[in-house]
Amino acid sequence: MSTPTTPKKPVNVSPGVTLGHQAVILMAGPCAVESYEQMRAVAEAVVHAGGHVLRGGAFKPRTSPHSFHGLGYEGLLILRHVADEFGLLVITEALAVAHVPQVAELADIIQIGSRNMQHYPLLWAVGELDKPVMLKRGFMSTIEEWLQAADHIASRGNEKIILCERGIRTFETATRNTLDTNAIALVKQTSPYPVIADPSHATGRADLVLPAARTAVAAGADGLLVEFHPDPHLALSDGAQSLPLTMLPQFMDEVGRIAQAMGRFLA
Ligand code: PEP
Ligand code: MN
Repeated sequence: MSTPTTPKKPVNVSPGVTLGHQAVILMAGPCAVESYEQMRAVAEAVVHAGGHVLRGGAFKPRTSPHSFHGLGYEGLLILRHVADEFGLLVITEALAVAHVPQVAELADIIQIGSRNMQHYPLLWAVGELDKPVMLKRGFMSTIEEWLQAADHIASRGNEKIILCERGIRTFETATRNTLDTNAIALVKQTSPYPVIADPSHATGRADLVLPAARTAVAAGADGLLVEFHPDPHLALSDGAQSLPLTMLPQFMDEVGRIAQAMGRFLA
């Protein structure tokens, strides 16, 4: 049975990197930018694995005010510097309207976090730009609310939108969140925008990240945002869900095979 689909709006990030085409795009890196050395180690591994996009939070939304909140602007500079050194693209979060100019200047994709999905002034601010925006689903938000949040960005002119399913809160406590693969498949049908998945925040457990990534790609995800750290035990945030860099080749191989089964490839 054929399913009616909406005309697609692939998002071109750089001449070789487009979301919503055949390639499933990996965006890999630590939860938070911690140092030059840390980011260099990650970037080297990402390039070696054939990846193109480096992730890392400079402005971190943390549930506790006593947790590490990122290096701020210094973190952005580290991220850009290291990405340029290795020929990578950068995705990082703008946590507040005030960060938007700095993040827009230094990042290739601006991330809007789960907690900010309905922060309308922030959505409008990134909607004024001509730059890819990755909109995470609020962990308590319906699919309809998520798509309406994307409409807020588009309403200001920016249609370079990438949706990200990052797990929703359910009654389940064995995992941090529950990856909603229904949402990936549904939004792929009903929305014009590419859809990626974040198996790290969706599971909260390093041992489940690879299986969750495989299911996301099988459900049709156009990309993956995954937390990797040189030494997860020493991570200043989200160490429990971060994969060691030594796992990157296996990750590329296993997820890549699912992508191939879907007529795609992982890059
Ligand atoms: C992140 O990806 O850095 C992050 C904070 O995730 P989320 O907004 O999904 O919690
Ligand atoms: Mn994180």
